This record gives sequence, structure tokens and C-alpha cells, in this order.
Amino acid sequence: MTRKFVRAIFPGSFDPITSGHLDVINRAVKLFDELIVAVGRSPVKNSLFTPAERVEMIAELIADMPGVSVESFDGLTVEYAAKKKADVILRGLRSLTDVHYEFKLAMTNRAVTGIETVFIMTSEQYGFTSSTLIREVASLGGNLSNLVPKNVYERLQQRLKKNPVPKAPNPGLEP
Ligand code: ADP
Repeated sequence: MTRKFVRAIFPGSFDPITSGHLDVINRAVKLFDELIVAVGRSPVKNSLFTPAERVEMIAELIADMPGVSVESFDGLTVEYAAKKKADVILRGLRSLTDVHYEFKLAMTNRAVTGIETVFIMTSEQYGFTSSTLIREVASLGGNLSNLVPKNVYERLQQRLKKNPVPKAPNPGLEP
């Protein structure tokens, strides 16, 4: 029996891509014939990088991975998946909190279009890593070298040098 070719899309905001996302991608390449990392272009509140910048950082990281590509997309993930003729949507899981949200999302997507979602659990050391946390810690000057790939770390530093986060006013000193 020949095995069916399986194409997966890995949709997300990736603002920016973290070592947790990359860990999921590294596991997924062993399971799927083709993997498209799909950066959502819909406006994200407090976004740090433009979709083009996010795609660029991911492209640098997957350059040597056969069968893996990256692009950005607009609108509904399920519509994008249909356009790409994807067999599955890939999502990463960190914790039970993720399961709660992802379960509803996956059920909705399957109810709407019949597409299956496949989940991959991250390594334990990235179980608490999120792009939101990365943006916050970076803005406060924290060391993130263990949580984001080197190219992302460098971009974060450049970005924050250009646009330092304004100091929050001290409420105690307000008139
Ligand atoms: P979204 O805004 O769509 O949740 P994200 O870029 O935050 O996009 O995440 C994309 C996917 O990667 C989601 O399935 C999310 O649960 C998963 N993910 C995020 N951080 C990690 C991590 N540290 N380890 C594993 N999966 C993760």
C-alpha cells in the first residue's frame, strides 16, 4: 500500500517565531511530506514585527529544511488551507490551557470544512514560551537567548534600539 502525500500548514501570528515554534516545526518535518508555515497577516494587537519581517525571520530558519516553506496569508485559516490543498492544519501545544482553546478552534474548523488538525507537543523547556511573553521580556531588556533563535534575538535587539519602549509614568508622582 502506498502512503498518501501529506501537506500540512502551520498557521500562526509568529510575532516573532520562538524556539517553541521551531521545535514544533522540527518535529513536524518528520511526519509530513510538505509543511507550509503560514504567517497570518490580519492585524494583531501590539504587534512588534510586520508580516514581511516575520516571514523573513522564518525563511532564514527553515532555509535548510527540505519540504518546508513559509508565506503569509489573509483571512480565514480554513480558506487558506483549502487554497493550498492542505490535508491538515498543524498546531502546537504547550499546556492544558492551550488544549482548551485549540480544541474549540479545531472542532470549529472541522465542522466548517472537514479539515483535520494535528497537534504536536513542544519540548518541556519551551512549555512556557509565547511570543507575547517574548515581546514583553524583550521590551524590558531581558535575556532571551535561550527562548528565541539567534536571528530573532538579534532582530529584537535592533528593533528595541530603534524604538525603545517608553518608560511607564510613575503613578505615585502624577499630579
Ligand atoms: P496564534 O496567534 O494563532 O495562536 P502563535 O504564533 O501564538 O499564533 O502560535 C502558533 C501555534 O504555535 C499555536 O498552535 C500555538 O499554540 C503554538 N505555540 C506557540 N508557542 C508555542 C511553544 N512554545 N511551543 C509549542 N507550540 C507553541
